[in-house]
Amino acid sequence: MHPFAFTRAESTHEALNAGRLGGRYIAGGTTLVDLMRETVERPETLVDISDLPLREVRVTEHGGLRIGALVTMSQTAAHPKVRTLFPVISESLQLSASAQLRNMATIGGNIMQRTRCTYFRDVTADCNKREPGSGCAAREGHNRTHAILGTSDACVATHPSDVAVAFAALEANVHLLGPDGERTVPFTDFLLKPGSTPNREHRIRQGELITSVEIPGLPRPLKSGYLKVRDRQSYEFALTSAAVALHVRGGVIQEAKVAAGGVGTVPWKLPVVEQHLVGERPSEALWSAAAAHAANGALPLQHNRFKVELLKRTVERQLRIVGGTK
Ligand code: SF4
Repeated sequence: MHPFAFTRAESTHEALNAGRLGGRYIAGGTTLVDLMRETVERPETLVDISDLPLREVRVTEHGGLRIGALVTMSQTAAHPKVRTLFPVISESLQLSASAQLRNMATIGGNIMQRTRCTYFRDVTADCNKREPGSGCAAREGHNRTHAILGTSDACVATHPSDVAVAFAALEANVHLLGPDGERTVPFTDFLLKPGSTPNREHRIRQGELITSVEIPGLPRPLKSGYLKVRDRQSYEFALTSAAVALHVRGGVIQEAKVAAGGVGTVPWKLPVVEQHLVGERPSEALWSAAAAHAANGALPLQHNRFKVELLKRTVERQLRIVGGTK
């Protein structure tokens, strides 16, 4: 690990000042400290923001939720309002990481976590994300777990977060605070596809801080849930996953929110699947027809072709579970 300075911010003002000067924010540290140990990340200054007042979960006036950036994964998953209003969020968190990590890791840190591509974490390997211009060892290497959607010649790494898939499905917003004040970014724009600059992963500007993630209110009743397919049933990242929320009234689907994980360089919203659902009556044939579009545009690699069919089946199964025809 490279030497670094450490400071603890006692106020938001202090944190922003330190961030403006190039300090890296740290809270749970469950990604950043690992990467520092492996010398993938070499920050000169860490700014501990754990004491900032960003630990509230509250229901908004339109029946949505605002989750403070420092609420831990386990606190969010267990919160009665999260469990009642948006089970898809709670389930995605419960299926993530390990209990110890969920007790430390925060919501802000979770959506900022970096890829689990093994070449990214191996400082001897070519990796455009870690070392721009060096190449991508995964393209012709071990790419079974890599992305099939949103990839570029420069990078094919998946975004590893589960709850980010739920946030993408529900069209959440990320609230930011920086030297120029507050601003809000739609979650589906917040994380960047790799393009030719895979080292740029999000829209946060120098010194900005995530203050909360807000899920908009949706018409009720709303049924939602998260399905994760992985090599083992605990402490493993998704091969494929599906976050689904459906509002059905009068026997007809009025609203459908669907996104996939484990397959995209960012959490992958599925608007074509959603369009096939809205205005239709739940049925086995509908789930199958809609899910057939889940992998539209996929560009599989040598070792992850199985994800195309697995993704369609994952989405179909979760539509069936949430839609109530299983
Ligand atoms: Fe690096 Fe992305 Fe290639 Fe992995 S897939 S080696 S993170 S450039």
